[in-house]
This record gives sequence, structure tokens and C-alpha cells, in this order.
Amino acid sequence: MLAIQQLPVLNDNYIYLIHDPESGDTAVVDPAVADPVLKALKQNNWSLKYILNTHHHADHVGGNLFLKEHTACKIVGYAADQKRIPGIDIKLSEGDTLTLGAHRIQVISCAGHTTGHIAFYIADTEALFCGDTLFSLGCGRLFEGTAQQMQQSLKKFAALPLNTKIYCAHEYTAANAQFAYSVEPNNPALLKMIERIKKLRSDHQSTVPSTLAQELASNQFLRTDIIEIKQTLAMQNAPELAIFTELRERKNRF
Ligand code: ZN
Ligand code: FE
Repeated sequence: MLAIQQLPVLNDNYIYLIHDPESGDTAVVDPAVADPVLKALKQNNWSLKYILNTHHHADHVGGNLFLKEHTACKIVGYAADQKRIPGIDIKLSEGDTLTLGAHRIQVISCAGHTTGHIAFYIADTEALFCGDTLFSLGCGRLFEGTAQQMQQSLKKFAALPLNTKIYCAHEYTAANAQFAYSVEPNNPALLKMIERIKKLRSDHQSTVPSTLAQELASNQFLRTDIIEIKQTLAMQNAPELAIFTELRERKNRF
């Protein structure tokens, strides 16, 4: 069983350490900064084998070069975006896999937030590291990609097993919940999520990870086929992409 440790850094970023006790292998996902990672590695007596980068933004790759200098790690990123991933060593594409001990880590390409965004999926651990693509009750902003690309990326995630834990890269859940509530005030699953979020945040705890089942039931960006949402938007007959686009634009203005 892989151990997953969440490190809150900067304003609202999460870095994840993934450790396989059998082989001793350890990976870090999206090290925005290096120091907290080095500290955690030392505390656990773990040595770093891989940096896994979901995309090129500074709050995901900021610690790459310092960590590479101070550990024996290799940096893993998306082949098509290799020019923007500092220190990249291992270049992967959709469907490629990497192993951490006996555990397979699968690359899922998920353009939208950036054109070269990827996620890391570990089936045997029911874990998805999805960077800035899917957030709890939200999704990433479209900085480089299109709404269509983002919706296709989210649909790939939606097809994973329901128990999959969604390890996203930011604690945006409370703000996302306010927008979600404005769209679906009568969704019981969402109301339940909001209660959970309030409790966790008042205890200064992380709301991440949620599960895919929770997101499918309460995250509108995965619910563009739901009739109540279409009605709220007064877009009863619109295709799913138009619904998604409208939701993303409303969230930008919210
Ligand atoms: Zn980003
Ligand atoms: Fe980010």
C-alpha cells in the first residue's frame, strides 16, 4: 500500500509525497517549493526517486531544480511540454506508465488549464493526482486550452472508478462551493459536501482529497448533463459543451 503525505505550501497549494514502503521508492507531485519537501523527506527518512509534474506553472515546478540538485531524483513530465518543465529527464505521453516499486503510475493527458497538462493515476491505490484540472467542486481556469479540451479531460476522469481519491493541487474548495451552491442550491449531495467543507475548514483541515463519487454528485463541471442545471442556466436544449462553457464563464465572473 502506498503512503500519501499532503504538504500544504504557499497560499493554497498542495504538494504530495507518495511512498512505497516495500521498495523504499518515493515520488513528489508538483513541488511548488523545495524546502518543505526536503524537510518531509528527512523526517520520514525517505529518499526521492521522482518528481512528477502535472504542468509547467511555477506553483507546480518551482522546487524542481533545487530538489534535483539536492537529491538523486529524476524529473518526470509531459513529452509534448518538455521545453517548459525545468530539468525534465523522463518524458511521458498519454497511456505511458512509470513504476514506484510494484505500483503502476499511469499518465492521463488532460489539456485545458494548459495545453500540456497531465494527471497521474495509480489504480491499485485508487488515487488521481490531477494538478489544476479537476478541483473539489470546481475545475481549473482555461489559461491555454479550450472549454472542449477541458471537458474532454474531465470526462476521462469521470470514467475512473467511483472510489478514486481526487488529489488536486489547490485548496479552492470553499470558494468553489459558493459558486456550486449558486447553481444547484437544491442538490442534497452538494449540501452535504458544503457541511463537510465547513467543518473541515473551521478545524483548519484539508478538504482534499474528495472522491470521484462525491465530485460526480456535486461538481457542476462534471454534471453538464443534469436537467436542473440546464434549467438554471435557461439552456434546456443546449449541448453539454455549451453548458460547460457557460458554467466556466459564470465561475470566472463569480
Ligand atoms: Zn496551474
Ligand atoms: Fe496551480
